[in-house]
Amino acid sequence: MDDQESVDANLDVFAQAKLAGIEAAGLRRTLALTDRFDGIEVLRNGRYLISFCCNDYLSLTHHPEVKRAAQDAIGRYGTGAGASRLVTGNHWPLHVLEAKLARRKGTEAALVFATGYLANIGTIPALAGPPDLIVMDALVHSCIHAGARLSGAQVEIFPHNDVDACRAVLDAMRAPHEHCLIVTETVFSMDGDRAPIPPLADLARDYDAWLMTDDAHGLGLVPPDSPADVPIQMGTLSKAAASSGGYVCASQAVVDLLINRARSFIYSTGLSPSAAAAASAALDVMAHEPERGQKALAHARYFAERLGLATPESAIVPVIVGDPEQALAASRRLEDQGFLVTAIRPPTVPLGTARLRVTFTAAHTDAMVSALADAIEAL
Ligand SMILES: *Cc1c(COP(=O)(O)O)cnc(C)c1O
Repeated sequence: MDDQESVDANLDVFAQAKLAGIEAAGLRRTLALTDRFDGIEVLRNGRYLISFCCNDYLSLTHHPEVKRAAQDAIGRYGTGAGASRLVTGNHWPLHVLEAKLARRKGTEAALVFATGYLANIGTIPALAGPPDLIVMDALVHSCIHAGARLSGAQVEIFPHNDVDACRAVLDAMRAPHEHCLIVTETVFSMDGDRAPIPPLADLARDYDAWLMTDDAHGLGLVPPDSPADVPIQMGTLSKAAASSGGYVCASQAVVDLLINRARSFIYSTGLSPSAAAAASAALDVMAHEPERGQKALAHARYFAERLGLATPESAIVPVIVGDPEQALAASRRLEDQGFLVTAIRPPTVPLGTARLRVTFTAAHTDAMVSALADAIEAL
């Protein structure tokens, strides 16, 4: 008992010392209880705030058809998948969802993982290993870095969206490696800009490499890339598709390989029937109501114009503050005025680029967007 207590005490001393360092750097994160009763207003600290930081870009998390699809799936199939997909977790809503994803992206097949994070950390090591080279954009998501590291391949980073630098890396490093994977995002999560896909696809052809994109923030907002250019199209169902889950759209051969080799697919329980059914219904609404995406993009453009920022290419507009404490202070002042805009700090974004990350959705009104622009102008 005494031994156990001293071990626990040491562990807590360790954790507190680590936290003190994080705190001193102004980077300590805490969780805030946040309830979303509709797509736009959130309840936090006893107050309703208009959220400009949800990734529910098409405002489908509270759409009646999407909610009904999830409820019906629970009624029919219960709450959980019950096992991994290769055992008994491969239910009908997943089957339907994968067919819809493949159709939307124009690929032969699609494979759904339990989350987008798991999709990346499973897919990358299934496609690349120690004899191979992975070349990726400096701003790709944390889970792409994690997947690349897990693969054991040599990893090289090129400066954000710099095609010439990517070519220079391939020139210098490609030859001795067996296979090469180039990884980027269609829409960058913290900057909202888009990757130069056609020139990267040309580079992939020139250097006998495979191009993989992460479309987490593009689905429903920007057109899908051609599978001829991008043979591996990863994405998440947790943003515009209003649910949870990750996916990879690719050829049947690649999907079959992932079923056999992606450890995060094999050893994790299948997505729940309700989550799959919700995503499936969201994809249907997305296809029938393209104006939802157009509206989110129009809000982003209007907002950027008001603040004199570059024309956005997505529903994400970063307002760079620089210093993490100042970004936090700006976020708090906006909260006082009824707007929820989270401050994004390192290590999520590079040092010195702490920011307000403003996201726009279909359910925002012009008046809400205009009021936010006023409030940020006045900061
Ligand atoms: C959100 C996100 C992920 C992770 O997806 P989850 O389904 O939330 O795990 C992966 N990549 C990018 C670029 C993301 O923004």
